[in-house]
Amino acid sequence: MDAQVGVIGLGAAGSAALWRTAARGAEVIGFEQFDAGHDRGSSHGFSRVFKSVTPQGPQESALAQRAAGLWRDLEAESGESVLHMTGGLSIGTPDSPLIAGLEKVSAETGLELEYLDHAELRRRFPQHLVTDGDIAVIDPASGYIEPELSIRTEWRLAQAHGARVVGAEVLEVVPQEDSVLIVTAERTYEVGTAIVAAGAWQRTLLPFLPLNLTPRRATLSWFAPKPRKEALFTPEAFPAFTHEAIGETGWGLPEFDDYRVKIGLDFTEGYEIVDPSANKKDVEDWELARVRNFVAETLPDLEPTPIHSGGCMITMTPDEEFTIGIPAEHPRLVVLSACSGRGFKMSAAVGDVGAELALTGASTADLSPFSPDRFTPAPLTIGATK
Ligand SMILES: Cc1cc2nc3c(=O)[nH]c(=O)nc-3n(C[C@H](O)[C@H](O)[C@H](O)COP(=O)(O)OP(=O)(O)OC[C@H]3O[C@@H](n4cnc5c(N)ncnc54)[C@H](O)[C@@H]3O)c2cc1C
Repeated sequence: MDAQVGVIGLGAAGSAALWRTAARGAEVIGFEQFDAGHDRGSSHGFSRVFKSVTPQGPQESALAQRAAGLWRDLEAESGESVLHMTGGLSIGTPDSPLIAGLEKVSAETGLELEYLDHAELRRRFPQHLVTDGDIAVIDPASGYIEPELSIRTEWRLAQAHGARVVGAEVLEVVPQEDSVLIVTAERTYEVGTAIVAAGAWQRTLLPFLPLNLTPRRATLSWFAPKPRKEALFTPEAFPAFTHEAIGETGWGLPEFDDYRVKIGLDFTEGYEIVDPSANKKDVEDWELARVRNFVAETLPDLEPTPIHSGGCMITMTPDEEFTIGIPAEHPRLVVLSACSGRGFKMSAAVGDVGAELALTGASTADLSPFSPDRFTPAPLTIGATK
């Protein structure tokens, strides 16, 4: 046996799993086809929105809060600063999925949110062009996280705890009764349990599981404030936001580096990517039309043409939820696929849960919405009635 645990794919979820497994004193090897914090997967672009309350449900919010604690542990152990709290602003009508979802999760969990009525929203955040009837919710424990720095720091801490990293593409994952074989071109490794966190490549590595994952194209864009409007977009004036408007869900971050103000849209309509290794870094003009329009219509103090843009990928499930758990038919595997375009913030917790599952077979987190078996077709039952 080469190690107790193998982690395949060291992006957001896998790097965290490597760190958290090694921090528990277990022998662990990680496998990554590119370098630490590379720009070929789903985790590049210098920033990701962090929220402690998400409208999707209490389980995701619990993961986000567990992650917040782990990001602070990472900072304390490494001396780096990866999570920056600017507060988070969510804008929409009271009955929109965003605002109603936040209100519901807040009521279920007791997590505190601040509500702004329409007049207060307009007064405090004039950068956002809002429509009559819009209100806002502020989550004080929100902001942004630096993805490449987080990943590189997780590798460093994991290695300080004794983890090994193999720079190789994994060609095949073969679960056996008492171990898992991890095949690379150079040699085959045998580990007790394998955590598979291959992002957009997950379905290629696990073709025998009905995970129903679809990698989709997404893009990243940054915009400059118009002349003399710079002060409106500092971290103090312009919190991380999500805004449901003009039929889109837009999000953005303040200006904190030379790339300037990052604005994006939920990208569920991006085209399907057949080969994630061939995803383009360049962005074509037509791909930016929607986000340019969103900026022009809702953020009039930004120039509507982006000054930087780049290609990225998100990995979707049919219900747009994460896939985290041990598949019933393969108890030596742990599947970590937390994307649907919003998984970076929780990735420290997703990795921690992966470490628990790999080492003990169970997790302290409620993973009920994330089962890797939920898309398995139900077996036919003779004579069944409704
Ligand atoms: C444009 C955009 C904006 C986003 N905005 C936000 C946001 O604001 N907030 C937020 O929380 N989330 C956001 N997300 C989502 C978040 O970035 C993803 O959920 C997260 O990065 C996914 O991490 P992952 O570990 O699943 O994938 P990745 O980080 O891509 O990691 C997978 C890794 O596996 C490796 N790998 C794959 N196959 C193999 C193999 N065969 N052998 C060896 N290595 C392999 C890959 O090289 C890669 O390093 C955004 C995503 C995009 C694209």
